Amino acid sequence: MAGRVALITGASSGFGAHFARLFVREGAKVVIGARRADRLSALAEELGEAALAVSMDVTDEASIVAAYDAAEARFGTVDTVVANAGIAVAGRSIDLPLADVANVVNTNFIGVYLTAREGARRMIAAGFKAHGRGRVVLIGSITAEMTGQGDAAYAATKAGVAHLGRQFAREWVRQGVNVNVIQPGYIRTEIDGDWFDSEHGKAQIAAFHRKRMCPIDALDAPLLLLASDASVHITGSVLTVDDGQVL
Ligand code: NDP
Repeated sequence: MAGRVALITGASSGFGAHFARLFVREGAKVVIGARRADRLSALAEELGEAALAVSMDVTDEASIVAAYDAAEARFGTVDTVVANAGIAVAGRSIDLPLADVANVVNTNFIGVYLTAREGARRMIAAGFKAHGRGRVVLIGSITAEMTGQGDAAYAATKAGVAHLGRQFAREWVRQGVNVNVIQPGYIRTEIDGDWFDSEHGKAQIAAFHRKRMCPIDALDAPLLLLASDASVHITGSVLTVDDGQVL
């Protein structure tokens, strides 16, 4: 990852903060984006000169453009995008308020769309076709492959992310930008609140084949593969990383 400039959305907690630490350890510069500026500042301070914190809301295109502008001004063209920001809404489809449905679609689908395309626009304009080092990784979810009570809106956005990745990969295949999707399994972060400490949550873990949650660092090697030069010939793939939960 040395020499790479990565923009990671949803970096104020969970996967995004973990990915930022990983990338900096591996020699990249990181631009960390999310809405909670206080969390980002603390992480940027921890990571030092290699990190730039930018307040951004992935549902607002202007804030995405501003984040890429700030990234370019500090580190140069972003060559590695991790479109990770996401929210979960749970509720039966007959009950879920329209505002919740719209929020999850705007964040998980349109937010990923806007984040990836702004990065690709700039890579294409900067002539990445010549060296083929552009990398875009979209964070989906195994729920794209499953059905579950209360999951319809969230899971459908993640199914959309999987296909968006393939579509983007096709569009940019001759432009030096590789696009791949990681579909993580259930991993403890803030997104699930205290669900996995509840009786139902514990029963869900007990029902996994390996009777455990997937650890967050299970994502490290797959992400480094798809974000680095190692994946020069990998584009349009959807990689499930879930410790076999979905099987
Ligand atoms: P967290 O809740 O810890 O992180 C979500 C991140 O997204 C936060 O940093 C949040 O920051 C950011 N975010 C939410 N809305 C916006 C927005 N409108 N604009 C910018 N940033 C936003 O959860 P995870 O780390 O677990 O989730 C990361 C991704 O991984 C999500 O897409 C999630 O769906 C996916 N995922 C998670 C799994 C899990 O088991 N944990 C499994 C499969 C997929 P802020 O609120 O500061 O804006």
